Amino acid sequence: MRLPDNLPHRLSDHFHLYELTRSQLAARHAIPNHPNAKQVAALRLLCRNVLEPVRRHFKIPIVPSSGFRCLPLNRLLGSSDSSSHCRGEAVDFEVIGVSNAALSEWIASNLEFDQLIVEYPQAENGNAGWVHVSIKAGENRNQCLTRHAYGYVHGLPVFSKRSKP
Ligand SMILES: [Zn+2]
Repeated sequence: MRLPDNLPHRLSDHFHLYELTRSQLAARHAIPNHPNAKQVAALRLLCRNVLEPVRRHFKIPIVPSSGFRCLPLNRLLGSSDSSSHCRGEAVDFEVIGVSNAALSEWIASNLEFDQLIVEYPQAENGNAGWVHVSIKAGENRNQCLTRHAYGYVHGLPVFSKRSKP
């Protein structure tokens, strides 16, 4: 879906707005997933302070799977209206060739963030699931969580030390 001309194309050196707004589900339902100026500012902060440092460290291009979500799209996904994705403050991604355990451990020790969530990891498969990171302009909590099918657990996955990329 084409973004309106008044929106910026680029959010940071290596990330474009379409990468943080594109959604197959939005396209399928003809939902214009367009952020406002405040949400674009939040996405810029996310790209500069999270995605760029991760890209620089692992030296691999990153393809975010979900960034900004307008409310109708977020509701279609069954996510809460209070989701940080709706404010442009969160991104879901993986880094090809890097386990989500290694990725989340590096983020936890090197970056400022509000929440870092390892979503649906599996002890026997380092590539299972994905990593969700949120950051906001104000105070950030640097809170680490793991999401399983049964709910959230504090901290990164306990098996992360043993899993191989
Ligand atoms: Zn997410």
